[in-house]
Amino acid sequence: MIPFFAAEKTLGKLAKWLRLLGFDTLYEPGIATEEFIENLENDRILLTRTQRIRKQSPGCKLIFVQSDHWDAQLKQIILELGLTAAQIRAFSRCLHCNEPIVAAEKKSLWGRVPDYIFETHEHFQRCPKCNSIYWPGTHTKRSLEKIREFFN
Ligand SMILES: [Zn+2]
Repeated sequence: MIPFFAAEKTLGKLAKWLRLLGFDTLYEPGIATEEFIENLENDRILLTRTQRIRKQSPGCKLIFVQSDHWDAQLKQIILELGLTAAQIRAFSRCLHCNEPIVAAEKKSLWGRVPDYIFETHEHFQRCPKCNSIYWPGTHTKRSLEKIREFFN
């Protein structure tokens, strides 16, 4: 089973990376932590750095995140859950709102991405919720290298 997550307020960068790897990850810094936790499904894994929450042991599963740094945090989660490269779907989810992204027709995007990007790319995806547009750019290459590091 592919795990799914909820990241508390202080774990924004980690949440972004989990989304980048394709994991369903709730992250809602605008909501009070108690309320955020109360509404989680039982199977969702809460990622927290707060001792108080760890001790309360809420109804859902929980991982107590050790490090201050997102890459060590991600490493901890990969190790603790035994995640493998086969479980990731990199670049399949919107980094802003966690929604699965869908293929977008190139001609519908004219004027909505920089001209240079439009001219040099054939494949685009968009988020059905917030309309963010994604394409394989240099950032993706760097992220791919990082992902290889994590799963080697
Ligand atoms: Zn979105």
